Amino acid sequence: TTALDWTKASLDAVRQVDSELEAFLTVDEDSALDRAAKAETGLLNGVPYALKDNICTEGVRTTAASRILENYIPPYSATVANKLQAAGGVLIGKTNLDEFAMGSTTETSAFKKTKNPYSKGCVPGGSSGGSAAAVAAGIVPFALGSDTGGSIRQPAAFCGVFGLKPTYGRVSRYGLIAFASSLDQIGPFTNTAQDAALVMNAICGHDAYDSTSAKVEAEDFTRDLDLGVKGLRIGIVRNLPEEGLNKALKQAVDEAIRKLEGAGAQVVDVELPHSQYAVATYYLIAPAEASSNLSRYDGVRFGRRAEASSMIDMFEQSRSQGFGMEVKRRIIIGTYALSSGYYDAYYKRAQQMRTLIRQDYEKAFEQCDVIIMPTTPTTAFPFGDKADDPLAMYLNDIYTIPANLAGIPGASVPCGFVDGLPVGFQVLAKPFAESTILRVSHAYE
Ligand code: GLN
Repeated sequence: TTALDWTKASLDAVRQVDSELEAFLTVDEDSALDRAAKAETGLLNGVPYALKDNICTEGVRTTAASRILENYIPPYSATVANKLQAAGGVLIGKTNLDEFAMGSTTETSAFKKTKNPYSKGCVPGGSSGGSAAAVAAGIVPFALGSDTGGSIRQPAAFCGVFGLKPTYGRVSRYGLIAFASSLDQIGPFTNTAQDAALVMNAICGHDAYDSTSAKVEAEDFTRDLDLGVKGLRIGIVRNLPEEGLNKALKQAVDEAIRKLEGAGAQVVDVELPHSQYAVATYYLIAPAEASSNLSRYDGVRFGRRAEASSMIDMFEQSRSQGFGMEVKRRIIIGTYALSSGYYDAYYKRAQQMRTLIRQDYEKAFEQCDVIIMPTTPTTAFPFGDKADDPLAMYLNDIYTIPANLAGIPGASVPCGFVDGLPVGFQVLAKPFAESTILRVSHAYE
């Protein structure tokens, strides 16, 4: 009955705090209790968890926080949801996000505004803001999010929890509602690196249903946790763009690095010469892929269908009414970038820059085992602060976006507070070196 007790405690917490926090879009108490009663025995024996609402769950409403999927009930579950269930985890509910994961604050959700648990006037970050807030508020010990340009690491930093974006291909994307398929990756929010290692053990592995799923050996992510950092080389990026970087936040990250140095790590300088182009590159590639992925929402097969007099009118009305402003902005940018007259000038050049950025990291990791930098330039900011300024909003992702372009793993580790708001540092490593990231994080904790 432990599973049942934990699930009840988690549901109590939802009732107590979520009317104010608004981290959840869907919580079905009866089915959660039902799942707890039937929980399988496994690695996660009865542990309650939440899923970002762009991860499909059979029979449980999955909206991607969009009107266009407001009443969508998937006929199948994402591979990660099946794996967590098989490991004995108990799904409590589905968490809020920016619409189709497009955003950095969870404000573009069509349904509600999730608050930062540390300050109700501030955003929780995004796009996986609901999952980050749910873990930070103690409702669930872990939750999954997705990270296309920072959507796990940034809200983890804003909410003071641990968040890991695995290597591209490490975790199956089958059943993840696609935003930008070459960048999207599912990963965990937890309180500690050790918990993240346990969740990773449950969700990783090759999946024949995802053609980009990596064929790598399953590994035990807890294996290296206690190895410490003696002799480990930490790369510090000397030409990191520092415009808009909060001084106290930078100090907190520098102190974290000193603490790891004190534990025996060695600090080396590395260069990432193309960092300054990452945001521009991302905002061509991500919208291009999004415009293609979102073409399926036409009102015909699933999702919202508008009343209309002709077929073309039905497509138009369904999409005009179903998508929010930010999603429309991305579809327009992406369609433009892919159009025949501009393809070479924008999309092709962005792909070329993506290769240079990936090569920057390959070279840097010849000199170090991990790279550490701030996760975000600032702490969580007030609601509405950047909502009318897309460029300022996009620049918030300056430190997280490169990892997605390069396909490498990265985590955000809590390292204190500035003016009462959490700060995180980011640990990056070469492809499939998640265990090194977890080891460094655990040594710091
Ligand atoms: N904030 C970035 C964007 O708006 C990244 C979002 C994400 O990682 N899903 O695209």
